[in-house]
This record gives sequence, C-alpha cells and structure tokens, in this order.
Amino acid sequence: MIKLDDAYDENNIFAKILRGEMPNITLYEDDKTLAFMDIMPQAVGHCLVIPKEPAVTFLDLSEDGAAAVMATAKKVAAAVVQAMDAPGFMMAQLNSSAAGQTVPHYHMHILPRHDGLELEFHARKPENMAVLNETAEKIRAHL
Ligand code: 5GP
Repeated sequence: MIKLDDAYDENNIFAKILRGEMPNITLYEDDKTLAFMDIMPQAVGHCLVIPKEPAVTFLDLSEDGAAAVMATAKKVAAAVVQAMDAPGFMMAQLNSSAAGQTVPHYHMHILPRHDGLELEFHARKPENMAVLNETAEKIRAHL
C-alpha cells in the first residue's frame, strides 16, 4: 500500500534500477532523469520517465525535479510517437495506491495510442525481453 505521506523506500524497484542493481532497458539518461522501457507494457512502446531524486509522488518532487521529468518526457514522447508511428499518445502518472500506483518512486508513463487499439491491463503481463529491446532500439533511433 503506497500512501501520500509514505517515506521514500530506498529498496523500491526503480531505486534499484537507478543504482544499476536491476536489469533495465534504458532509452535516455541525463543528470536528473532516466527513461526506460516498461516491462509490462500496456501498448507497444510504453515507457517510463523517472527523476533521479528520491520522491514517491508528485507532491514529493522538487520543482527542479518536476521540470526535469517534463523536459525528458517531452523528448521521449516525441521519439515514441515517431518510432511507433502513433497518431496520439497518453501521459499518465498515479499518486498512491488509492490512485493505482504500484511502484513507490515517482514515474511518468508515456503510451503511444492508435485509434481502436485498446490498452492492455496495467502492470499485468511481462513482455519478452527481445521484443522490448527491439522496440527500444526503434525509439532510441529518434532520440
Ligand atoms: P504504477 O502502477 O506505479 O503507475 O506503474 C508502475 C509501472 O512499472 C507499471 O507499468 C509496471 O509495468 C512497471 N514495472 C514494474 N516493475 C518493473 C520493473 O522491474 N522494470 C520496469 N522496467 N518496469 C516495471
């Protein structure tokens, strides 16, 4: 259960990714943010942007961290749209379990959208690593 007043858990999965303790398919990285493939994508090309600073929800993010996440999200979303030839895209982020957040490190979802193509269920089905790597390569080509 993730609550709005939770302290940051240094052992959450995204903190481990940031420390290089978990395998990860990186799309983009700078001094304040990391963008990578979601391993249980709701659409082909679903990826996440996280701040490097410890923050559980949007309310915990510094102004600077929030600005950095948005700047990276803008770059990555443009690349996802081009790589997936998407006529639309969705950006979403959930704050606390009450809102559906499952990983307690702030993250922005970027999902390409196509007319008539429904999203897969949230955080339900892990995708094959080879498929994720292939999609990541297509996105990186536009970054
Ligand atoms: P939330 O529910 O917190 O908004 O979203 C968490 C997202 O992280 C989900 O879309 C889920 O598929 C993804 N996710 C969960 N565990 C991992 C992981 O170990 N690696 C990556 N790359 N994504 C993960």
